[in-house]
Amino acid sequence: MASILDPVLNTDEHKAIKRTALQIIEKDINPYIDEWEANAPFPAHQVFKKLGDAGLLGITKPVEFGGMGLDITYAMAFGEAVGHIECGGIPMAIGVQTDMATPALANFGSDELRRDFLAPAISGDYVACVGISEVHAGSDVAAIKTHARKDGDDYIINGSKMWITNSLQADFMVALVVTDPDGQRHSNKSLIVIPMDTPGISKSARLDKLGMRCSDTAQIHLEDVRVPQRFLIGEENKGFTYQMIQFQDERLIVGPGAIASMERTIQETIDYASQREIFGQPLINKQVVQFRLAELKTEVEALRGLLVLCLDKYLASEDVTMLISMLKLKIGRLEREVADSCLQYFGGMGYMTETPVSRYYRDVRLHSIGGGADEVMLQIISKYMGTFS
Ligand SMILES: Cc1cc2nc3c(=O)[nH]c(=O)nc-3n(C[C@H](O)[C@H](O)[C@H](O)COP(=O)(O)OP(=O)(O)OC[C@H]3O[C@@H](n4cnc5c(N)ncnc54)[C@H](O)[C@@H]3O)c2cc1C
Repeated sequence: MASILDPVLNTDEHKAIKRTALQIIEKDINPYIDEWEANAPFPAHQVFKKLGDAGLLGITKPVEFGGMGLDITYAMAFGEAVGHIECGGIPMAIGVQTDMATPALANFGSDELRRDFLAPAISGDYVACVGISEVHAGSDVAAIKTHARKDGDDYIINGSKMWITNSLQADFMVALVVTDPDGQRHSNKSLIVIPMDTPGISKSARLDKLGMRCSDTAQIHLEDVRVPQRFLIGEENKGFTYQMIQFQDERLIVGPGAIASMERTIQETIDYASQREIFGQPLINKQVVQFRLAELKTEVEALRGLLVLCLDKYLASEDVTMLISMLKLKIGRLEREVADSCLQYFGGMGYMTETPVSRYYRDVRLHSIGGGADEVMLQIISKYMGTFS
């Protein structure tokens, strides 16, 4: 089974992770996606338990809490397999569980916190969500207003979190909140674990989205939510920094899956255009179609090159912030190009919800917005170029 980053991810161990993941995806996920897209949300506990039982939710996490303790390349091998899930909503939900809600908990959380929340997230018994964004603060993460004040041994948290993936099914949220209202905006916030059944939490109805339709997204209100101060992850007021560190790994890990789904979409278009007769011959015989698909394939290969470069430098412990920002930018933009061009060659069929390319078109649109919009990536790149004002 060749890898997208062959030979980097192609040891026997990488292949075994991919094989295990693909077996679950083909048996327990892909056959149900149409149903889950129509009747959202997908059953996160059921799906995560399957993945957790196979060890796939804790690939890079510490062994003492049920993880495999492996390096990022193994998470990328899993990420590549996740790219074979035939929708964007479940990969996003898995990414929240493994790469957004739990890395800071694993790296900086106390043993007690890791035993109570990380271990069940790795085993798939708990669903996790991450609460960063707020109605008025998405790209500008430091502008969040949800705050925690101390009361005895507890924090009392007030505010609200917007567009929170997995939140209607989640057992806990890792929330970024202001803990020092008088401090600097990058050093006055903390990450705190909040069990979702804590009194004072209320949830909106599931938000109705353009794409990622099988995932659950909601607004979470927190009114005098009381949690023990020991639910703080790491040091107080370091939350913003922890969050920024975690963004780097998350943006690298999604690369192989994004390439897998682009390759799948291009291949599906070749298959369709080869059997679709138009003006007396298969659509694929038109040179304009051949050339556009060839151009997209070229772009995908260039993206793969950038991904390999990022990974090489990451493994050499170099500063890859600029390159990973370029990678995130390019993934979002190229997916949109692939989706748009491929849907075009499906004609009217491409516009039907039942056609996979139409789901792909709707789902990938998020990637230029969520987890750092394209312009946020351009801002980081500009800073590294010394041109940012
Ligand atoms: C389906 C979905 C799931 C999500 N899941 C989660 C989740 O689980 N947890 C969570 O915390 N958040 C989540 N989010 C929130 C997501 O991360 C934010 O939507 C994203 O960060 C953008 O923030 P915003 O929507 O407030 O847009 P804004 O910050 O208002 O930005 C609007 C637009 O302005 C432009 N822009 C941004 N910065 C600049 C700049 N410097 N210069 C020029 N233009 C700029 C961009 O085009 C951007 O799209 C989710 C969002 C969606 C839609």
